[in-house]
Amino acid sequence: MRIDLHTHSSVSDGTDTPAELVRAAHGAGLEVVALTDHDTFAGLDAAVAEGERLDVQVVRGLELSCSRQGASVHLLAYGANEADPDLTEELVRVRGGRRGRLGGVLERLEVLGVPVSEAEVLAQVGDSPSVGRPHIADALVEAGHVRDRTEAFDRFLADGGPAHVPRYAIELGRGIDLVHAAGGVAVIAHPWGRGREHVLPAGFLADLVRDHQLDGIEVDHQDHDAEVRHRLRRLTESWGVLATGSSDYHGTGKVNHDLGVNTTAPEVWAEISRRLARSGTQLRG
Ligand code: AMP
Ligand code: ZN
Ligand code: FE
Ligand code: FE
Repeated sequence: MRIDLHTHSSVSDGTDTPAELVRAAHGAGLEVVALTDHDTFAGLDAAVAEGERLDVQVVRGLELSCSRQGASVHLLAYGANEADPDLTEELVRVRGGRRGRLGGVLERLEVLGVPVSEAEVLAQVGDSPSVGRPHIADALVEAGHVRDRTEAFDRFLADGGPAHVPRYAIELGRGIDLVHAAGGVAVIAHPWGRGREHVLPAGFLADLVRDHQLDGIEVDHQDHDAEVRHRLRRLTESWGVLATGSSDYHGTGKVNHDLGVNTTAPEVWAEISRRLARSGTQLRG
């Protein structure tokens, strides 16, 4: 059984529509796929409907923007109650922060000699409710300033880069509590990706397990090399938390993240399902 628990559609910063993504998952031989768009549930109904047609189990997920000491970190949530008022309010706030920082980024890009207009970015955003840096990157590509998203991040948009403007996000421990209060399962996404182990050191992850009952850690991710995966796996074993694996697929928006490139073990998925069943969550549409 092939299980991929982290993917993005055009409802956030991926390039496939939710239905296209589920068709691609079917084509890639996945039996279970979670749609985890950034800070929105808006793609889930369409993905679940396509999953029912193709007999692919679509897990209702989310990648929630969080922060630690001002740095951006990501939390995967599965099966949270999408009508939960506190979670809903938080998602509105974080999407507002995404939209609100756009002007500041555009001012910097202009000063840097690579201007794009708000309209050009919004054309890339389309009807996504979640404005992301990849959309700004796409506008830079479209304007001929960079070749691809990678170059846009490397030269301008990466954390600490010359056009990076921080945005609001909930503190990580509170984010985990929010997901749990909504009946969801909480898994930290790519904690040590892109050389960011210092942002979420092992001692702090241990605190999250102890003080916030963190459910799991995404171990097998393309931003983790073999050594990082090995050390994270050992930590999950010693703490008794779940170790997941996933692609973080973004369609053509991220190279080397093909569906199913990393997968989650069936036993781990079974345990996530049990926890959701216990919290009374409907996994499927
Ligand atoms: P944002 O959600 O606006 O904070 O932008 C972060 C998103 O941009 C991440 O979820 C990734 O999908 C993407 N991203 C971050 N760094 C890079 C990079 N170096 N190259 C391409 N995409 C990236
Ligand atoms: Zn993304
Ligand atoms: Fe992420
Ligand atoms: Fe992601």
